[in-house]
Amino acid sequence: MDAQMLTIAQARQELDKGNVSAVELTRACLRIIEALDDKLNACLLVDTEGALAAAEKADERLRQGERGALLGIPYLAKDILMTKGLKTTAASKILENYIAPFSATVIERLEKAGAILLGKANLDEFAHGSSTENSAYGVTKNPWDLSRVPGGSSGGSASAVAAGLCFFALGTDTGGSIRQPASFCNLVGLKPSYGRVSRFGLLSMASSTDTAGPLTRSVEDAALVLGVIAGKDELDATSLNLPVEDYAKDLNQGIKGLRIGVVRSDLNDGLDKEIKESFEKSLISIQKEGAEIIDIELPYSKYSVPVYYVITPSELSSNLARFDGIGWGMSVEESHNLLSFYKENRGHGFGPEAKRRIMLGTFALSAGYADAYYKKAQAVRELIKLDFENAFKQVDVILTPTAPHPAFKIGAQVNDPLAMYLEDIYLSGASLAGLPAISVPGGFVSEEGKDLPYGWQFIAPMMQEKLLLKTAAAWEKINNYSKRRPSF
Ligand code: GLN
Repeated sequence: MDAQMLTIAQARQELDKGNVSAVELTRACLRIIEALDDKLNACLLVDTEGALAAAEKADERLRQGERGALLGIPYLAKDILMTKGLKTTAASKILENYIAPFSATVIERLEKAGAILLGKANLDEFAHGSSTENSAYGVTKNPWDLSRVPGGSSGGSASAVAAGLCFFALGTDTGGSIRQPASFCNLVGLKPSYGRVSRFGLLSMASSTDTAGPLTRSVEDAALVLGVIAGKDELDATSLNLPVEDYAKDLNQGIKGLRIGVVRSDLNDGLDKEIKESFEKSLISIQKEGAEIIDIELPYSKYSVPVYYVITPSELSSNLARFDGIGWGMSVEESHNLLSFYKENRGHGFGPEAKRRIMLGTFALSAGYADAYYKKAQAVRELIKLDFENAFKQVDVILTPTAPHPAFKIGAQVNDPLAMYLEDIYLSGASLAGLPAISVPGGFVSEEGKDLPYGWQFIAPMMQEKLLLKTAAAWEKINNYSKRRPSF
């Protein structure tokens, strides 16, 4: 069984027919991890024993005749999601030895459904970044070209799914961290609506935009995972009490008559020329499927990156205040007084990007500046939301490129935070507005003899995941991009 080639839906059929067992699928993934992860550095922890024990349980349930979308399917979780009894580091030194006392709700829901947790995936420290270069445990490599980043911050999750280390992975997306790595690794990456999926047990970055969602090898697979992790959670007051739909049903209805909005002015100089041409060609093939392409404007979208980089550092500077060396996280023994104890722990525990953001956020919230920065940013955020509301009076979904270019070289942007922040140009708007968005494979460009993938992003109105997935599935069907695997 070449696990690397299968989608969840395909593995599901093999499991249900008894052609393969969950233990065999798990062993196949563990073998691939063993063979490839030295090169990729996608995994921060592999729980061989736990995974095999879970696989045996899943096989027992299958033998009893139980069936379920993810029963017996192995996956990895971004290491910012708490996993009971296993280390959860957020790729930070400050949590180097932290063992979570409980699991995130999404992890619990997957466990109940019989999915098999293989281990934890690498990320940018506390999910700050677009390249996974901010991990305290080394950069993850992109399987399409090992000299390039996999994107971030869910880069370990993306690299692992693309290289076949697991059937799907959980990521988190605060301002693009599921969608951008999906685009860099030729995957489907779904950021659910804010409130659709519980955040309980997700170590908070920016509480007002944090979401958890899947990285998968097909749109159907993303729908299957969403169906398991979505829904109200008493432990997360911001999770919404709405029915969980069967997201994988009716994915093949097509897009005849669908109105798709495109912001032409956003396809500007920053966008790679080949990707721009390919985007325009894609619009034509989408029209051939019977959808209507409508030009729209999102006048405030040009402020979404600056607004995002005031609001999220503000929130995270407060969220990261709890890591002080007392209660959780590392603890430096020798200190002369409380202040030097804090300084020691936070000074050694946090990496440079976390420190930069803590300082930015603390500044933006401080007396005398909060009105000029934080409150102003919140006001503009409302205008960005209104832009989307107005656009959705005219169109059903919005289509954009996911990222302005394909995966960049490791090290190329690491000393240029501004360039790194501009990675989010197409992504932060949907995050600030809480809207569901998905990145799907959009094609390939060739650089230095290597094929590098890029993605298209669809954005839908609040809680319209079904419409979003149907649209993405229609696009997936008119090309074969998502079937391609890296050949390294
Ligand atoms: N690139 C964004 C940032 O660095 C995305 C982070 C995220 O979604 N977790 O903030």
